[in-house]
Amino acid sequence: MAYEQKFMELAEKEAQSNVGTQIGGPFGTVIVKDGKVVASGHNRVLENHDPSAHGEITTIREAYQKLGTHDLTGCVLYTNAYPCPMCLGAIIWSNISTCYYGNSAKDAADIGFRDDFIYDFISGGLADKSVLNLEQHDRDLTIKSFDNFKRDSGRTLY
Ligand SMILES: [Zn+2]
Repeated sequence: MAYEQKFMELAEKEAQSNVGTQIGGPFGTVIVKDGKVVASGHNRVLENHDPSAHGEITTIREAYQKLGTHDLTGCVLYTNAYPCPMCLGAIIWSNISTCYYGNSAKDAADIGFRDDFIYDFISGGLADKSVLNLEQHDRDLTIKSFDNFKRDSGRTLY
């Protein structure tokens, strides 16, 4: 679906609604399907005491509830800032194939929200162990649930 400014205006309005509150950062999101708004929301990290309550996540969760599915194929996501790695993952896991953003990751870093260190873990390269000690252990033990899942003829892949 082609970009429409009116939906970015709505995402920006959601972001603006957080300014001067203790709800969360200035981040807003709108999810659109067939030209209509399915869900809109904003960051609620402080309000919910939940570091995963980014605008994209809260809005994706609302869309899941409204549409009654974990599959948002055909939806387009508008967000006022480049999604962080967590949100990029959630957007892709949701089967949303188009995401329009306004502010860049650098714009977010300029107001104190930076996420570049997370990409070090994703690339598997120079990850900072003082941020997260991420180690693999006991694969022989944990592979059992995967093997059982593989043998389950009723399994659901998503
Ligand atoms: Zn995020």
